[in-house]
Amino acid sequence: MPSTARRLSGFTESVIRGMTRLANQHGAINLSQGFPDFDPPEALLAALERATRGPFHQYAVTWGAPRFRQALAAKVNRFSGLQLDPDQHFVVTCGSTEAMMCAMMTACDPGDKVIVFSPFYENYAADAILSGAQPIYVPLRAPHFGFDPDELAKAFEQKPKAIIVCNPSNPTGKVFTRAELLEILRLAEKHDAYVITDEPYEHIVYAPHQHVHFAALPGAFERTITCNSLSKTYSITGWRLGYVQAAPHIIAQARKVHDFLTVGAAAPLQEAAVAGLELPDSYYHGMAADYAQKRTLFMDILRRTGLSFTEPQGAYYAMLDISPLGFATDTAAAEWLIKEVGVAGVPGSSFFREPEQRYIRFHFAKKEATLRAAGEKFAQGLRKR
Ligand code: GLN
Repeated sequence: MPSTARRLSGFTESVIRGMTRLANQHGAINLSQGFPDFDPPEALLAALERATRGPFHQYAVTWGAPRFRQALAAKVNRFSGLQLDPDQHFVVTCGSTEAMMCAMMTACDPGDKVIVFSPFYENYAADAILSGAQPIYVPLRAPHFGFDPDELAKAFEQKPKAIIVCNPSNPTGKVFTRAELLEILRLAEKHDAYVITDEPYEHIVYAPHQHVHFAALPGAFERTITCNSLSKTYSITGWRLGYVQAAPHIIAQARKVHDFLTVGAAAPLQEAAVAGLELPDSYYHGMAADYAQKRTLFMDILRRTGLSFTEPQGAYYAMLDISPLGFATDTAAAEWLIKEVGVAGVPGSSFFREPEQRYIRFHFAKKEATLRAAGEKFAQGLRKR
């Protein structure tokens, strides 16, 4: 039999989604794969019902249904201060996952280098391999997960084509400051590199931290390829709606990648999601306040385990330091937590370039009752160790 492609030996199946499967198999509370167990806003559900009876069952325009792109541009402009054109600055994709792949294939030729901060969202390594790019890893160090400007400058000296910036960051919860982003921009300008950003948690940020739209920094727009998603903002991870946002000459290329990869995102879901994009500012304030409450509750639950953990500035992940539990690997710890404690998380090693086995990542995008139930499982189950 012929062998399958060599590029696939460079990475495993997603550890995050593997943990969800294991959690389901053992009936554990699933705090591994980041998705809510509560419903999207009522306005989206009503719009989805309406969309099923409308003329939305065939392909939409490949780079996004016009009504969706209009609502998207208005919403992005409202929050970023940019003045983007629905017809020139966007490609609508199947989630930020496709947006990132599309951005990488648009920016990089095989053999090009790409800077990736470590720890990083696991897709980026696979995106690099599939697009033929070679990652250069720059560490973000606990507890604040900032970068060392000299280390970053050295990485840029290797002439990367792009740098990937996940902000707010998964899995660390870091929200990059304006000063940090300006330093990244300065180096990207100096070495003429693209900045590919992944910003699905832009609205989930905890005071006093603030989200800065990289593309809106002075002089940044022409070299920034922003990837984003509606998944987290509107609690619709299963709808698979995201977008690439960039200057028109980049978008013209990204459209081609997207068209041949997927043709387009689901037409009825684009139609229904317009209701989300048109929600007033109060929705975003309410959502941020809800997540702030969940964060307080979950930090309290983690504190009671007696273990140390990372406190997110944004997004909804925390990494629990399980090294005192004495497992040989974090994967063994994650499996024990699922089977014996009844709570699923993700082994931290799947996010790190460095040989790091200290962490299990948990997320708290869950109902208060679910988080409290997980707290009880921790209180009872961790004693067994
Ligand atoms: N972004 C989410 C996480 O990190 C979901 C990942 C996924 O399965 N696409 O858990």
